[in-house]
Amino acid sequence: MTSTATIPQRIINRYDGHEHGALLIALGGMHGNEPAGVKAIETVFEMLAQEPSKNSNFRFKGRFLGLRGNLSALHAHCRQIEKDLNRQFTTQNIHRLKKLTRNGVKI
Ligand SMILES: [Zn+2]
Repeated sequence: MTSTATIPQRIINRYDGHEHGALLIALGGMHGNEPAGVKAIETVFEMLAQEPSKNSNFRFKGRFLGLRGNLSALHAHCRQIEKDLNRQFTTQNIHRLKKLTRNGVKI
Protein backbone atom coordinates (compact mmCIF):
# COMPACT_ATOMS: atom_id res chain seq x y z
CA MET A 1 0.00 0.00 0.00
CA THR A 2 1.39 3.39 -0.93
CA SER A 3 0.78 6.64 0.87
CA THR A 4 -1.28 9.23 -0.96
CA ALA A 5 -0.18 11.99 1.41
CA THR A 6 1.95 14.67 -0.14
CA ILE A 7 5.22 15.90 1.28
CA PRO A 8 4.46 18.83 3.61
CA GLN A 9 5.22 22.36 2.51
CA ARG A 10 8.15 24.31 4.03
CA ILE A 11 6.08 27.32 5.09
CA ILE A 12 3.55 26.59 7.83
CA ASN A 13 2.19 30.11 7.81
CA ARG A 14 3.12 33.74 8.28
CA TYR A 15 1.53 36.48 10.29
CA ASP A 16 2.09 40.12 9.44
CA GLY A 17 1.69 42.46 12.36
CA HIS A 18 -0.08 45.76 12.49
CA GLU A 19 3.18 47.65 12.65
CA HIS A 20 6.72 47.16 11.44
CA GLY A 21 9.03 45.24 13.74
CA ALA A 22 11.25 42.23 14.02
CA LEU A 23 10.99 39.06 11.96
CA LEU A 24 10.53 36.05 14.22
CA ILE A 25 11.16 32.66 12.62
CA ALA A 26 10.05 29.44 14.33
CA LEU A 27 11.33 26.18 12.92
CA GLY A 28 9.64 22.91 13.88
CA GLY A 29 10.15 19.35 12.78
CA MET A 30 13.90 19.23 12.44
CA HIS A 31 13.41 15.56 13.29
CA GLY A 32 10.57 13.87 11.45
CA ASN A 33 9.56 11.75 14.42
CA GLU A 34 9.05 14.88 16.54
CA PRO A 35 6.01 16.70 15.08
CA ALA A 36 5.22 18.57 18.33
CA GLY A 37 7.11 21.68 17.22
CA VAL A 38 5.07 21.94 14.02
CA LYS A 39 1.84 21.42 15.99
CA ALA A 40 2.87 24.13 18.46
CA ILE A 41 3.60 26.58 15.66
CA GLU A 42 0.23 25.79 14.05
CA THR A 43 -1.44 26.47 17.41
CA VAL A 44 0.28 29.85 17.67
CA PHE A 45 -1.09 30.80 14.24
CA GLU A 46 -4.60 29.70 15.29
CA MET A 47 -4.28 31.86 18.41
CA LEU A 48 -2.99 34.82 16.40
CA ALA A 49 -5.98 34.52 14.07
CA GLN A 50 -8.43 34.55 16.98
CA GLU A 51 -6.79 37.08 19.26
CA PRO A 52 -7.91 40.31 17.50
CA SER A 53 -11.59 39.33 17.92
CA LYS A 54 -11.06 38.48 21.58
CA ASN A 55 -8.82 41.36 22.57
CA SER A 56 -9.44 44.78 21.04
CA ASN A 57 -6.11 46.01 22.42
CA PHE A 58 -4.14 43.31 20.63
CA ARG A 59 -1.27 44.71 18.56
CA PHE A 60 1.43 42.67 16.86
CA LYS A 61 4.60 44.36 15.71
CA GLY A 62 6.69 42.63 13.08
CA ARG A 63 6.25 39.36 11.30
CA PHE A 64 6.04 35.77 12.50
CA LEU A 65 7.08 33.04 10.08
CA GLY A 66 6.63 29.34 10.84
CA LEU A 67 8.69 26.77 8.95
CA ARG A 68 8.94 23.00 8.84
CA GLY A 69 12.47 21.57 9.05
CA ASN A 70 13.01 18.13 7.58
CA LEU A 71 10.13 17.76 5.10
CA SER A 72 11.02 14.25 3.90
CA ALA A 73 11.50 12.93 7.43
CA LEU A 74 8.23 14.52 8.60
CA HIS A 75 6.48 12.85 5.69
CA ALA A 76 8.05 9.49 6.57
CA HIS A 77 7.56 9.98 10.37
CA CYS A 78 11.19 9.07 10.96
CA ARG A 79 13.98 10.99 12.67
CA GLN A 80 16.05 11.67 9.56
CA ILE A 81 16.48 10.52 5.97
CA GLU A 82 20.20 11.00 5.32
CA LYS A 83 21.53 13.31 8.00
CA ASP A 84 20.45 14.68 11.35
CA LEU A 85 19.57 18.27 10.35
CA ASN A 86 19.89 19.49 13.91
CA ARG A 87 23.56 18.50 13.87
CA GLN A 88 24.42 20.40 10.67
CA PHE A 89 24.93 23.86 12.19
CA THR A 90 28.70 23.42 12.22
CA THR A 91 31.17 26.25 11.65
CA GLN A 92 32.33 24.49 8.48
CA ASN A 93 28.79 24.26 7.06
CA ILE A 94 27.97 27.87 7.95
CA HIS A 95 31.13 29.07 6.15
CA ARG A 96 30.25 26.89 3.14
CA LEU A 97 26.73 28.38 2.96
CA LYS A 98 28.03 31.95 3.34
CA LYS A 99 30.44 31.32 0.46
CA LEU A 100 27.59 29.99 -1.72
CA THR A 101 25.35 32.97 -1.01
CA ARG A 102 28.22 35.41 -1.68
CA ASN A 103 28.50 33.77 -5.10
CA GLY A 104 24.82 34.37 -5.78
CA VAL A 105 23.54 30.86 -5.09
CA LYS A 106 20.10 30.87 -3.50
CA ILE A 107 19.72 28.32 -0.76
ZN1 LIG B 1 14.76 16.66 17.83
